[in-house]
Amino acid sequence: MSSEYGFDTRAIHAGQEPDPTTGAVVVPIYATSTYAQQSVGVHSGYEYSRSGNPTRSALEVALAAVEGGTRGLAFASGLAAEDTLLRAVCRPGDHAVVPHDAYGGTYRLFDRVHEPWGLTYSSAPISDVAAMRAAIRSETSVVWLETPTNPLLGIADIAALAAVAHEAGALLVVDNTFASPYLQNPLALGADVVVHSTTKYIGGHSDVIGGALVVADPELGERLAYAQNAIGAVASPFDAWLTLRGLKTLGVRMDRHCANAERIVALLSAHPAVTQVRYPGLVTDPGHDVAAKQMRGFGGMVAFTVSSEEAAVDLVSRTRVFTLAESLGGVESLIEHPNRMTHASVAGSPLEVDPALVRLSVGIESAEDLVRDLAQALR
Ligand SMILES: *Cc1c(COP(=O)(O)O)cnc(C)c1O
Repeated sequence: MSSEYGFDTRAIHAGQEPDPTTGAVVVPIYATSTYAQQSVGVHSGYEYSRSGNPTRSALEVALAAVEGGTRGLAFASGLAAEDTLLRAVCRPGDHAVVPHDAYGGTYRLFDRVHEPWGLTYSSAPISDVAAMRAAIRSETSVVWLETPTNPLLGIADIAALAAVAHEAGALLVVDNTFASPYLQNPLALGADVVVHSTTKYIGGHSDVIGGALVVADPELGERLAYAQNAIGAVASPFDAWLTLRGLKTLGVRMDRHCANAERIVALLSAHPAVTQVRYPGLVTDPGHDVAAKQMRGFGGMVAFTVSSEEAAVDLVSRTRVFTLAESLGGVESLIEHPNRMTHASVAGSPLEVDPALVRLSVGIESAEDLVRDLAQALR
C-alpha cells in the first residue's frame, strides 16, 4: 500500500487484506512449519516457515509501508535484527562508527560479539556531524545511529549524516525504535536501513519481543532477506500477529505518549529536586532544532537527573503508577535507573551512564495520574 494513503490507513491495512480463503478480517496466525506443494516446486508462495510465513509476511509488508520502504523483515528480537544486518553487510576487517550514547545491548553486540570476529568500531557523539565524519575510516562500511538515543535522548541529524556516510561509501543505519515510524521516517531522510525493536512502541503493549529491518533499496532488501533465512532468527507467527495488532494503533498511541510526556516534562522542568531534563521537545534542549526538522512529534521518552545516585535509586522505587521496570514503549508508564538496569552492560565503557539519571517511558494513562504520581515520588 503506497504512501498516497495516510499513516494510520497503512498501519491498519497494508499487507492485511481479508483472508482469501475465509474472509477473516484479521490476518490469522498461520501456525504451520511447512506448506503442501501441488508438484515439485509448484506452490502458493510458501515452502517453509523460516523462509516465509503468511502472518510474518503481513507484518513485513505493513512495516515497509509505515516506514516508506520497499522491504520489511521481521525478526525474533531487535538484537536479532541488528545481528543479521551486521552479518549481511559487514566483513572481517570492516569498521563501524557507533554512537557514544546507545542502547546497551547494541553496544554489547558490537563490542562482545562482532569485534572478536574482526569488525572493529569506534564510538562518536551522534549529534556532532564533524566528529562523526572524523571517526570514519577507509574500511568503514556502516555508520550506526540511534535518534533519539537511549537513554539520553540525544538527536542526530539524519540527512547530514546520510551524506557523510555516503561520501565514505558506508551505509547509514538508523535505529528508529524511540521515535517509531509515526514520528520519524529515516529512509526519506537518506538512511539506508531502519532498525526497530518492535518490542517497544510498534508492539506497544509489553507483551512480545521482536525486531525489524526496513530498507528502500530492493537489492539491499534481497541481501537482507537472504541473511534472514540463512541465519534464521525470524519472528514466530504468534509474535508477528501480536506485533501487527499493536501496529494498527501506533498512531493514536504515539499522540497520547507525546502529549503525556509534555505534561511530565513541564512538571520536571519546574521541580527543585530535578537538576536537568532531557527531552527533544524542550526548546532549550540541544537537539531541539534538528528534532523539530526531522520528527513529527517528540515522543514519550524523558530522561532527567536528580542530585545523586542515591536520590535516583530511591525515587524509582517510590512511584505507584509508573512501574519500576526495564523496556519502554508500552501503554503503561515505566521508570528505571539506566546505570544499574538497562545500561548495566556498558558499565566501565565509554557509554557508561550518569548514576543520577532516571529514565521514563511515559505511557498513555490519564495524564493527571502520572503527574500526581511523579510529584509524590519527587517530594
Ligand atoms: C530494546 C532496544 C533494542 C533491542 O531490542 P530487543 O527487542 O530487546 O532485542 C535496540 N535498540 C533500542 C533503541 C532499544 O530500545
